[in-house]
Formats: sequence, structure tokens, C-alpha cells
Amino acid sequence: MKPAKFKYHAPKDLQEALSLVAESGDESKVLAGGQSLVPSMNFRLARPAVLIDINGVGGIDGIDASNGHLSIGALARHVTLERPVVEGPLGRLLATAAHNVGHLPIRVRGTFGGSLAHADPAAEWCMIASLLDATIVASSVRGQREIPAADFFKTVFTTTLEPDEILTEVRLPRLGPGAEVGFVEFSRRAGDFAIVAASTVLEVADGRISSARVALGGVGGTPLRSPAAESVLTSNEPDDSLFEEAGAAAARDVEPMGDIHGSAEYRRDLVRVLTRRALQSSMKA
Ligand SMILES: Cc1cc2nc3c(=O)[nH]c(=O)nc-3n(C[C@H](O)[C@H](O)[C@H](O)COP(=O)(O)OP(=O)(O)OC[C@H]3O[C@@H](n4cnc5c(N)ncnc54)[C@H](O)[C@@H]3O)c2cc1C
Repeated sequence: MKPAKFKYHAPKDLQEALSLVAESGDESKVLAGGQSLVPSMNFRLARPAVLIDINGVGGIDGIDASNGHLSIGALARHVTLERPVVEGPLGRLLATAAHNVGHLPIRVRGTFGGSLAHADPAAEWCMIASLLDATIVASSVRGQREIPAADFFKTVFTTTLEPDEILTEVRLPRLGPGAEVGFVEFSRRAGDFAIVAASTVLEVADGRISSARVALGGVGGTPLRSPAAESVLTSNEPDDSLFEEAGAAAARDVEPMGDIHGSAEYRRDLVRVLTRRALQSSMKA
């Protein structure tokens, strides 16, 4: 299939890109890595009248850890994160997640910002943004605004970005050196989207879990946190039976839909098993 006709713009700086988006609004789509948008256009699931290619826009592809958080430019490619970009647990977590995104050619072109803007509930970066309470920076001719990850994902492929906004940066909190991170996903073949994915961060002080984060992908319209699993874990000693209990709590927290890849019950059981495994893997790292 070939895409429907569209006008193509290749702005050279952010101001020009923002003006173009403001002028064309709903009619336009931003083109980043093209790894989701181009197939959708070829199948005519997306028919933007105007395509605004931001690949030539400078200054929005960097990774910077100098401001107390990790700042990832929207155009940073998945592959850039495959080697730890910061020392410690955050760099390790991002590298593991990056390695699970599609296949190498997709990781070379696809972007961090494109993945969040696309908002596939099974996408690794969407789950990580939810896990770490990322701050998403949206720019427009009206200025900049910061959106907490919890307010960013609305439903499948839908975010709270306005039609005249471009996602320009994502900020992640630096994790302390003692944070234990876990990431596990299950897909039918290497490189496929996860059927279910689980990621965790535990902070342990004096032998007890002082803070716990559990996030899940592939089991709802958006990436999800599991408050029940987080509450089971907090203030307790990390061990296999606690992790089993947390997995069961996470499974009760979700209402997955069934599809051709697996029934709702199958996905719920994957949540139980993968949450436990992510927690176990975090304490073995
Ligand atoms: C075979 C295959 C397997 C894949 N497997 C996985 C996988 O396992 N996990 C996974 O997470 N992804 C997977 N992907 C998708 C891939 O990660 C994409 O790179 C990603 O979803 C979108 O990023 P992109 O830069 O390619 O965005 P594009 O395709 O260019 O854009 C996607 C959408 O986001 C919008 N957009 C992009 N950037 C911005 C921005 N800065 N501001 C506002 N809107 C923007 C576009 O307008 C479009 O609507 C796979 C893709 C393919 C083809």
C-alpha cells in the first residue's frame, strides 16, 4: 500500500516546526522515526494532510544528566539508550528496556519521544515513564508545559498532547545507587511487542523495602501502576514469598482485555508471574 497524498515540510529549527504545527493543527502529523507512523500511513489508518518531519530540528535529541534528573530529548533514538547513558540502576533499567524494543533497524530510527507520543500501552518506554513518574515536556508557540506521566496517557494511542504541541523532552528522576530495578516481558517472538511487561523499582533500607514501584504494560488502554502490589511490598522484607504475594496483588489490580494474542485470564496470570519475576530479578542484580 502507498500513503494518501500529503504535504511535506522539513523545518530546520524548533520555532519553525512549532509554527507549522500551530498552522495545520489537527490536519498534520509530526514525523519522528516513522516506525509507527509510516506503516499506519501505508495502510491508510493515518491520513495526515500535512507531514512535519522534525528529524532536521536541532537540539532535541540530546541526553543530559547534569540537572539532578535525566533529560532525554524527544529525538533520542531507542538504540542510544541500549548502552547505559548514566551509571547505576537507571542506566541499567533503560538499557534493558531499550534492548526489548522491536528489532535493531527499528531501534536505530525510532525515537523515545515518538514512542511516548504514539502511546502504545505495550510500549516499553510508556511503561518506564509510568514506572518512574516521568515529566513530559510539550512545546508549542504558546510556550512550554510539563505533563506528569500519570496525566499524559489517556487511552490506547491517545495522549493529552494538544494538536499544536510537540513533545520535546522527557525528564526521569535519577535513581539512588541502592535502588533495585527489575524488567521482564513476555512476547511470542524476539522483537515482537510484549504481550505483557512488568517493571519494578525497590528501595531497601535496614533490610526492609522503603519504597516500591510496580508498572505494567499490555494490560489496559495505558501503561498501569499497581498500587496494590506497591502497598504489599512497602515496609516488608524482600523475599520470594513477598514477591509472590505482590504478583498476586498486581494480578487483582488489572482488568485486561483478551485478544488474538491471549485471553484476559492469560494476561492476568502473566501479570502475576512477570511481576514476581521482575521483583526477583531486581534483587539478584
Ligand atoms: C516491526 C515493528 C516492531 C516494533 N516493536 C516495538 C516494540 O517491541 N516496542 C515498542 O515500544 N515499539 C515497537 N515498535 C514501534 C517503534 O518503537 C516506534 O519507534 C515508536 O513507537 C514510535 O517512534 P517513532 O519515532 O518511530 O515515531 P513516528 O512513527 O514517527 O510517530 C509515531 C506517532 O507519534 C507522533 N510523534 C512522534 N514524535 C512526536 C513528537 N516529538 N511530538 C509529538 N508527536 C510526535 C507522530 O505524529 C505519530 O502519531 C515497533 C515497530 C515496528 C515497525
